[in-house]
Amino acid sequence: MNEKGIPQRTSEYFGINTFGVRQMRDKLPRETYAKLLDALRHGKKLDVDIAPRVAQAIKEWALANGATHFTHWFQPQTGLTAEKHDAFLSFDDGQPMEAFGASQLIQSEPDASSFPSGGLRATWEARGYTAWNPASPVFISEMGGVKTLYVPSVFVGYNGEALDEMTPLLRSSDVLSAKAIELLEVLGDKGVYRVYTTMGPEQEYFLIDRSHFALRPDLVMAGRTLIGAPPPRGQQLEDHYFGGIPERIQACIADVEHELYKLGVPIITRHNEVAPSQFEMAPRFEETDVAVDHNQLVMATLRRVALRHGLQALLHEKPFAGINGSGKHCNWSMSIAADNPDLDGYNLLRPGKTPHQNIRFLVMLAAVLKGVHKHAGLLRAAIGTSGNEHRLGANEAPPAIISVFMGNTLTKVIDAIAAGKVTSSAEQEMIKLGVARLPEIEKDNTDRNRTSPFAFTGNKFEFRAVGSSQSIAFPIVLLNAAVAEAIAEITAALKAELKKTKKVDDAVLKVVRPIFKETAPVRFEGNNYSGEWVKEAEKRGLLNLRRTPEALAQLATRQSTKLLTSLEILSDVELESRYHVRLERYIKDMLIELNTLREMVDTFVLPAAFAYSGALANAASQAKAAGIKVIPQIEAANALGTLIANLQKQRAALGKAIEKAEGMHDDLATCATFLTSTGADTMGEVRKCCDAIELSVADDQWPLPKYREMLFPV
Ligand code: ADP
Ligand code: MG
Repeated sequence: MNEKGIPQRTSEYFGINTFGVRQMRDKLPRETYAKLLDALRHGKKLDVDIAPRVAQAIKEWALANGATHFTHWFQPQTGLTAEKHDAFLSFDDGQPMEAFGASQLIQSEPDASSFPSGGLRATWEARGYTAWNPASPVFISEMGGVKTLYVPSVFVGYNGEALDEMTPLLRSSDVLSAKAIELLEVLGDKGVYRVYTTMGPEQEYFLIDRSHFALRPDLVMAGRTLIGAPPPRGQQLEDHYFGGIPERIQACIADVEHELYKLGVPIITRHNEVAPSQFEMAPRFEETDVAVDHNQLVMATLRRVALRHGLQALLHEKPFAGINGSGKHCNWSMSIAADNPDLDGYNLLRPGKTPHQNIRFLVMLAAVLKGVHKHAGLLRAAIGTSGNEHRLGANEAPPAIISVFMGNTLTKVIDAIAAGKVTSSAEQEMIKLGVARLPEIEKDNTDRNRTSPFAFTGNKFEFRAVGSSQSIAFPIVLLNAAVAEAIAEITAALKAELKKTKKVDDAVLKVVRPIFKETAPVRFEGNNYSGEWVKEAEKRGLLNLRRTPEALAQLATRQSTKLLTSLEILSDVELESRYHVRLERYIKDMLIELNTLREMVDTFVLPAAFAYSGALANAASQAKAAGIKVIPQIEAANALGTLIANLQKQRAALGKAIEKAEGMHDDLATCATFLTSTGADTMGEVRKCCDAIELSVADDQWPLPKYREMLFPV
């Protein structure tokens, strides 16, 4: 605030708690800075010889800003981040002082055995280490008045095995870059030193009153309601989407944004989402490696700051049945970093102004279509979690079938090229196809297909099927891999074609033609929620992997293994371990849900039902004693008795399912299949009984906050 009480401009304090390239330039000797910048620009590892200087600069900055501790901050495969704080405090000859050396900046050694490793523990040493990832700026986190220096890091086993989400992401970024540079060189684009992907993840979430949350064991334990009768009003009035943001929510969101701005996270939009109490925040896109860290900060900050406002942020994909769940639309594109200013920053998925630019654009589209078509199952696996199963498996946005939406204009262009009515040259063909209209696509793309899991939106693709609580790293790793492979294949084909065809543009057109043809089945412009699409997709031979275990199995196919190992993004064992981590996680999530539900039935629903039926019986016997002839409580008590008996029957089935699943622990795949079928079905049946009882018991005797109370408080 200034003296007039006007708050500081965002631009004045944006990134104030980060030590990024700008601050480093001021603090580092020129030569050191040049080396650091070179490492960053080329996506290379940092030279050990400059690390002491960098560590010194970071230490001074952190201490000047009041930090007392530092931590490596990394992303084990829990979907969350991990940290262990060490004090700067050190002793020199018994004298207290602050120390932070190169080795502390570069490496630390948490005990790897307490993080998910998917069975790698057995074969590898339990030890692992974290290493600074200089691609992401260090930052100071302020929490409860305490300031701590965070060093974004990767987490690997002692032989370099990836144990985290970040390592494969960095590998995939490097591979995609190398393959794309090769292709661009063939196209005649020289001086490109890196092709990086860009990412803008739109985060959906719910905010509900913290006290309601605390009273719901299902929300606390599983992140979603396992029971709860639908209220008469849900989202059918369509009054929440883009509605006025409630004041209490606004205060909370602004507080979240304020913290994120200090951390350099460029949040630029906020709005009400479709379901009551559902909201969205989106950043301006950034380089993917940074955007992944920033999305973790967004989720953590939302959770933390909401509590300050007496609110609880729910990031689960489906916290409430019967209304929309939450996703995370991942906007993705590829951009050029080059010494040539005409090329530097060029978005490869933006339609260009000249026929040649559009040839380049079409070849990149062809690569994405080829990659997504071939590896649709793998992309489905990337988003396979217990939470996302409620969105993807059910009739909700988007379906489990991975298809690509291209929009009208491009569909026409692609179809025409695929049809192969070749004219003499690529240039003429581009003109004939109305290439002049291509730049309009971006503006034109307002008639978005909201139902598509993977849509082209003018100058980027939007992977919409990603779950709201997920780390976006893995989906992007697999997307990068699929596209990198396609790019490499296109480059090879192009090189071969250039032996016959002289002009590059003409050769490109010849190469993309069969790709547009063979990937036609994956393109779909219609309503992805419709029953017809399910049938149509089956005819086209597209995968429809509704349940998580069958989706995850795609991680173990030969095709997936070949893709990831040949590009050296994941080794055989690393991939296998990822499959196990995800399958295990699914099983654990499901067992937590089953056990929570059982406890809720036993300690909330049945006791409430018994108490109310007891009250009805008492009322009836008193009425009888008083000589009253018509006693409606008897009928009500009988009806409730039937509901209770039904619930007890289902409760018994639930107990059996839990016992059976818990006994299956050594066969993960069978256990997961059992849980996704019998387990989920039994939970559904129990829920039906509970919800019927909720609607029969007196409101003042129902022990849990109801949907009405949780969703419409503000
Ligand atoms: P909407 O999809 O809601 O219409 P926009 O298209 O403006 O909104 O952008 C949605 C998200 O896509 C934002 O986070 C934005 O920064 C991001 N985005 C825009 N361009 C790109 C790009 N080239 N690469 C990655 N993300 C992008
Ligand atoms: Mg969008």
